Amino acid sequence: MNPPGPIDFIDLKAQRRRIGPAMDEAILAAVHGGQYILGPQVGQFETKLATFCGARHAIGCANGTDAITLCLLALGIGPGDAVICPSFTFAATAEVVAGIRATPVFAEIDEATYNLDPAGLGAALDTARKNGLVPRAVIAVDLFGQPADYDPIEAFCAENGLTLIADTAQGFGAHYKGRITGSIGHFATTSFFPAKPLGCYGDGGAVLTHNEEHLAIIRSLHVHGKGEDKYDNVRIGMNSRLDTIQAAVLLLKLAVFAEEFEARQAVARRYSDGLKDVAVTPYIAPDRLSTWAQYTLRVAAPRRSGFVAALKEKGIPTAIYYPKSLHQQTAYKGFPVAGNGLPISERVSQEVVSLPMHAYLDEATQAYIIEAARSALTGKAAAA
Ligand SMILES: *Cc1c(COP(=O)(O)O)cnc(C)c1O
Repeated sequence: MNPPGPIDFIDLKAQRRRIGPAMDEAILAAVHGGQYILGPQVGQFETKLATFCGARHAIGCANGTDAITLCLLALGIGPGDAVICPSFTFAATAEVVAGIRATPVFAEIDEATYNLDPAGLGAALDTARKNGLVPRAVIAVDLFGQPADYDPIEAFCAENGLTLIADTAQGFGAHYKGRITGSIGHFATTSFFPAKPLGCYGDGGAVLTHNEEHLAIIRSLHVHGKGEDKYDNVRIGMNSRLDTIQAAVLLLKLAVFAEEFEARQAVARRYSDGLKDVAVTPYIAPDRLSTWAQYTLRVAAPRRSGFVAALKEKGIPTAIYYPKSLHQQTAYKGFPVAGNGLPISERVSQEVVSLPMHAYLDEATQAYIIEAARSALTGKAAAA
């Protein structure tokens, strides 16, 4: 079987072909409008974004990393404070904590969903206290697009006086028990990096919150801690805004998001139907819908590199998110790890491998990928 054409890991060109002409117009209109910073498209997009997620407020910012930093700054978190987060995640989740000189405390994940294990949070809290730190917040991550198990995480935060920040950079628009990520947590943050479920044509991000007071502080923080105006500085802030042009792009992309979300469900279903008898396919808890930022298999360590090579030979790109958990990374080795270590986080980083995944993956290409994956996993060539 030959590939039906070149295969992209995430095909951004297909979406562009679909919304291209309208997009070109919208970008040009933003250019002609001349308000490059905080132009009217930014406010329009923030309103649409908040409505879409069911959050009361959304604030655009420069990227998904800054979005988390803005929340930590709004809470006044700093040296001596601990923020509990998973170790099996993208570096930004913990980087922002270390960046403001607070201490990330790494907690264990659930082996089936790859998200924070609510049962491991107590150990992380004890570890923070034993290290003489003041526990302030939990950052939960919706890894690969599946929401974290928010009910018990929220309960844990409430019991222990912690703020919940939901890092939904990968899980934008996913569902948890009828709620949409973006509306869950004291804060939710997301990224519009091009390859994310809702991506723009550059960097972008947002903070979502229901809380008026937090809204006001973050609106100030993201423009240099402004007070009455930009030259009245009432707190130490940062420069982190969503560009007008990116807001124009996102307005159009958000309008097709629900359709793309459905298309990704169908792609994921086809993968799982085609591979579940030969591989460990993703487990999505019955009370959740993933937004499928990634479609991630588990292939035990000695076979994974061969699997990747076999697919590469057939023109199929794969990716490993993440080859190491953060507590195993040079930059993060010095930070506390909950309890007696994180064996699950270490094991899954050896086994995960993600297949091409996007809303425009056609059935013929997918059939080709499934066949190649099956033959790599079983060592048998597919029947002709
Ligand atoms: C992408 C990502 C971020 C950071 O987003 P940027 O816009 O690239 O700064 C944060 N957390 C997670 C889990 C991510 O996947």
